[in-house]
Amino acid sequence: SVRVRFAPSPTGGLHLGGVRTVLYNYLFAKHHGGEFVLRIEDTDQTRFVPGAEEYIFNCLKWCGLQPDESPAHGGPYGPYRQSERKEMYRQYAEKLVADGYAYYAFDTKEELEQMREENKTEENPSPQYDHRVRMKMRNSLTLTEPEVKALLDANAPHVIRIKMPQNDVVSFTDMIRGEVNFQTGLVDDKVLLKADGMPTYHLAVVVDDYLMKITHAFRGEEWLPSAPVHLLLWKYLGWDAYMPQWAHLPLILGPSGKLSKRDGAKYGFPVFAMNWTDPKTNELTEGFFERGFLPEAFVNLLAVLGWNDGTEKELYSMDELIASFDMKRVHSAGAKFDYEKAKWFNQEWIKRMPAEKLHVQVAGYFLSAGIAVDDIEKLDKVIELVKDRCTLLPDFVQQGGFFFKAPEILELDAVKPKWSDEKKLFFNEYVDVLKTVGTWEFTVIENVFKELATAKNIKPGELQLPMRIMLVGGKFGPAVFQIAEVIGKEETVKRVEYALS
Ligand code: GLU
Repeated sequence: SVRVRFAPSPTGGLHLGGVRTVLYNYLFAKHHGGEFVLRIEDTDQTRFVPGAEEYIFNCLKWCGLQPDESPAHGGPYGPYRQSERKEMYRQYAEKLVADGYAYYAFDTKEELEQMREENKTEENPSPQYDHRVRMKMRNSLTLTEPEVKALLDANAPHVIRIKMPQNDVVSFTDMIRGEVNFQTGLVDDKVLLKADGMPTYHLAVVVDDYLMKITHAFRGEEWLPSAPVHLLLWKYLGWDAYMPQWAHLPLILGPSGKLSKRDGAKYGFPVFAMNWTDPKTNELTEGFFERGFLPEAFVNLLAVLGWNDGTEKELYSMDELIASFDMKRVHSAGAKFDYEKAKWFNQEWIKRMPAEKLHVQVAGYFLSAGIAVDDIEKLDKVIELVKDRCTLLPDFVQQGGFFFKAPEILELDAVKPKWSDEKKLFFNEYVDVLKTVGTWEFTVIENVFKELATAKNIKPGELQLPMRIMLVGGKFGPAVFQIAEVIGKEETVKRVEYALS
């Protein structure tokens, strides 16, 4: 069966591109009835950032992309944190050495530095450790067997490097890009096992994808240059028949090339799923969650950022995405992120969302604006009335706050034709009529309004704006008599009287 994995390194927050990688993994797995594995690739302890793993879990949870197997969920192929699998990797590295595909390298930092200094040219400013230099270095290819043994016995610091063939071409078929070829001579002899006994990403990713029976591996295109190393490892370890099918996902582009944190700061849009505060710099990067995006909208907009089903359809629920997702329809060119379009998705989703799925979060935004909401039924009515006017969740405060808190400043000066004694008189009488209304429904409230206006020979249209301003404070909001119905008789009377006072 299909098994995919998302394999983040806990080095920071989850960027848009990262979440899209998770999403495509998830959709592919669910489309094929397979399993989605979350594996934490934390072998590079120098890049470890506290809190990053928890952040990743929270993001996936918010997006509704729950893994079937993970460090938190467990599973039959655990542990799912590479640092806890440390002991598993060495044997494979040793086997590669024994079979002649890898070698021990004892070079010190100074020796590596010197090598780079000596081989530096203008067109090659940072020379690699590869077939051109490996025979001049201190490793098990150049030292005698007893020398190597003596060094190992003495616990001399060493790494294990892959021996990249000098003149080979390796290739694989990428699910998005088709056939991709690599000259092995251009790739350096990557370290597989580090001096501290930890594997590098290259070794660990191959060993774990094999042991965890991963069938398809999808990752960002920045990993494409590493593919020849991985291809050869699958082959050298004798596992070619089990190599997953790969897809390298194109970048998400910002207004100026690759989408970056700086774009977010510069252009004022979120680039992370949730707010991320870098614990080293204390720098906050804004997230979609806090900006008031719905997870449904976020998932939808990410899915179509670089993929479509061949039709014009843009709005998809998670179930629809699962049903129609196809990795082969992911575009190979980078997709441009457009914040205005992202907001459009959220607006469309808010419109379609029933009030009871929004009210908890909306009440939270009201509360932080100093408006306490104790009547959930009323809140639901308000949400239904104003949701078509909201793009982001905090917009509900602006669009619906007056339902819970009477406006203090009334812009009656904005009334055209002018606010007059005649109009004032009308409202004085109207408020008395309102007090006698039995069934407080907007149709009734509206009818008595129109009847009185006709009796007084004033166009009802000229009175509606003042009525709105009395209830709302300004020239916005849904139908005015519906507003009156929701805020109730007592409050409506109170607001009109306040305006007349
Ligand atoms: N640990 C790698 C990362 O952080 C995973 C790359 C892969 O999926 O192979 O992106």
